[in-house]
Amino acid sequence: MTGRGFVLALSGGIGGAKLALGLCRVLPPGALTVVANTGDDFTHLGLSISPDLDTLLYTLAGIDNPATGWGRRDESWTFMAALETLGGETWFRLGDGDLATHVERTRRLRAGESLSSITDDFRRRLGITARLLPMSDDPVRTRLLTDEGWLDFQDYFVRRRCAPAVRKIVFEGAAAARPQPQFRAALADDDLRLVVICPSNPLISIDPILAVAGVRDALKACPAPVVAVSPIIAGRAVKGPTAKMMAELGLPVDAAAVARHYAGLIDCFIVDEADGPALDGVEVATVAARTLMESMADRETLARVVLNAAGARQR
Ligand code: GDP
Repeated sequence: MTGRGFVLALSGGIGGAKLALGLCRVLPPGALTVVANTGDDFTHLGLSISPDLDTLLYTLAGIDNPATGWGRRDESWTFMAALETLGGETWFRLGDGDLATHVERTRRLRAGESLSSITDDFRRRLGITARLLPMSDDPVRTRLLTDEGWLDFQDYFVRRRCAPAVRKIVFEGAAAARPQPQFRAALADDDLRLVVICPSNPLISIDPILAVAGVRDALKACPAPVVAVSPIIAGRAVKGPTAKMMAELGLPVDAAAVARHYAGLIDCFIVDEADGPALDGVEVATVAARTLMESMADRETLARVVLNAAGARQR
């Protein structure tokens, strides 16, 4: 792939942000737009929290916490400790620096500013050259039907630590939500060179983005190739509940099942060298590579693999 045009990456939090950082570092400044899942967003302690946007902001700014995978590096916890003393809710951990993000976002949302505009200002202030967009400025809320009944996303993910078995996942509001305007425009832009579906959880990080009204059709119609990277390596998720959820929903826990999940949308699937290149029942072209991103070099190398795969596969 040449340096011309721009790349659009669809991402959740931890896994997606790692590849987004690799792409940001190997592409020219301004040549990357990242679209984040906002189905995990919720209101907590009166604050508007956008976990995937924040993981992307902190990761792309180089201030992420590598130990937790969420929140900020070198964080202090005075607020949380004080809240605990007062008997407040502490199941969702908010570090002192992280708290500033939520307080400021909430203040500006209440003053009538859009989530897009606030996010764009935050990313500029944090020195991020990539554009970062919420999938929509309209609310979409992921909810899960589990063996303990219906749960809001953060109740399932953080409070219950993904323990309940998942039966069904819905994205409330998605069918009526409008894609963020720059996201919608990007999918029809002649300058779009590539769409990357990052190695995020397909069921709760990428599916909410695809569920926003018109996104799936726009992706099918977009002139640029679409390349997805597997979040499943050798039958396991690197982190989080992806494998557990796939099994509970009756899917085989392997990279091929992820590729089949994206059938009709993608032109190329990047699979770990432990799994591919041949995948059972997968008709789309596959490329085998090291997909575990431990070091910064791993992130950049995988980003180059993705860009090269796209260059070989114009629509
Ligand atoms: P969340 O919103 O924070 O859960 O983040 P994502 O959905 O973006 O990321 C979770 C997914 O990332 C899991 O399915 C992991 O298996 C995957 N993941 C995390 N790190 C890596 C990695 O280094 N390589 C690959 N291929 N997948 C990864």
